[in-house]
Amino acid sequence: MVVTRFAPSPTGYLHIGGLRTALFSYLWAKSNGGKFLLRIEDTDKARNSKEATEAILNAFNWLGLEADGEITYQSQRDAIYTKYIKQLLDEGKAYRCYMSKEELTELRETQMANKERTMYDGRYRDFKGTPPQGVEPVIRIKAPQSGEIVVNDGVKGKISFQAQDILDDFIIARADGTPTYNFVVAVDDYLMGINEVIRGDDHLSNTPKQIVVYEALGFSVPAFYHVPMIHNAQGKKLSKRDGATDVMAYKEMGYTPQALLNFLVRLGWSHGDQEIFSFSEMIELFDPKDINKSASIYNTEKLDWLNSHYIKNMPNKELEELLNEYNIILASHDKKEILLDALKERVKTVKELAVSIKEIVVAPTTYDEKAIKKAFKGNAIEILNAYQAKLTDAQPHLPNEYHALMEEVVTEMEIGFGKIGMPLRVALLGKMGGPNIDTIMAVIGKKESMHRITQAITANT
Ligand code: GLU
Repeated sequence: MVVTRFAPSPTGYLHIGGLRTALFSYLWAKSNGGKFLLRIEDTDKARNSKEATEAILNAFNWLGLEADGEITYQSQRDAIYTKYIKQLLDEGKAYRCYMSKEELTELRETQMANKERTMYDGRYRDFKGTPPQGVEPVIRIKAPQSGEIVVNDGVKGKISFQAQDILDDFIIARADGTPTYNFVVAVDDYLMGINEVIRGDDHLSNTPKQIVVYEALGFSVPAFYHVPMIHNAQGKKLSKRDGATDVMAYKEMGYTPQALLNFLVRLGWSHGDQEIFSFSEMIELFDPKDINKSASIYNTEKLDWLNSHYIKNMPNKELEELLNEYNIILASHDKKEILLDALKERVKTVKELAVSIKEIVVAPTTYDEKAIKKAFKGNAIEILNAYQAKLTDAQPHLPNEYHALMEEVVTEMEIGFGKIGMPLRVALLGKMGGPNIDTIMAVIGKKESMHRITQAITANT
């Protein structure tokens, strides 16, 4: 059974890049009928916060990515780490190092002066003497001193690290007894039964160290997939300014979970030239062997395009629910179908949809000066009055009925359609733009339409 995981450090919000590896891990587990586990790497007490953990869970919840089983919190696993550190000490695979800070600095300076790589020199590796007084030892693992460590990466292929170049006997427990990052990751991945690790390639340099830990403990090594970073259009690592922000900020901007997930799955993974993937299709088709070898490019237009696709195709009932977040309650609005059908074709985000709805259902209190100048010239008022008269005598409900009354005015006054359309639009909305005027009037109704026309005439003559 494939067991994957997402292992965020809760030091801030969930970032879009983190979410992408979480999604890949989730999809790969699910496409194999496996498990996707969540581990909160909260050992750094100074930098972690409960709020950050909650933010991660909130984001998962919004996107419908549910982790299987209990969440693992590293902060609750000290006893486990201590047990394995003791095991390595007992087996002679790790040792106490009593080097003082001063000695370490001295070693570093000498190595630098000799233009050597700065690394621990192994002086306590086989130490049998009496430990020096007053130094709380750190615990170092006995890393291989020669040969190579091979990472068979599912994305990047075989990568060999020369032991002597990259590994010294790295610290697995600090002087205060707390275990270090690479040690706990390896222990937890093994104990949680993780057999496929999908993570950002910024972790690639940690992998040989983790392999040393696996091997020292006699644990089987999982399969690794290191996913290339997401870049901006300039080919640089994505930053906040490019939109690499809190996942929940995408919700606030009005993106739908479907669009965001679809956008992310295509950042660094492809299936032919298919762009639109339903969630179940993603699960069916995702395979980490199709993860691209090079960095992917973040493209906001693509996200907008996907979002408008999903909004356009979303049942109105679902849109109605999303709009509740923007304080738009359409539940008892008798023309909500007309309203949503007309607007969902035109917007890129749910936020934009909310703004457009407000612009229609709330009467304008001000009028765009330029629009008035353009629309209310000539005999515009006379035309509006003629339309008012038509409305008074009729009982229009649907857009085409409002339209027919406009047609009558156009024919009777022998004018072009724009001559009525423009002033009417500005009277109803206070500005140019927006969906069809007949749709607007059908949505707000005859009484409100007439009221807005009167108000516009009074305010602008
Ligand atoms: N906690 C690490 C991070 O947030 C991820 C560890 C891993 O995936 O191995 O970057």
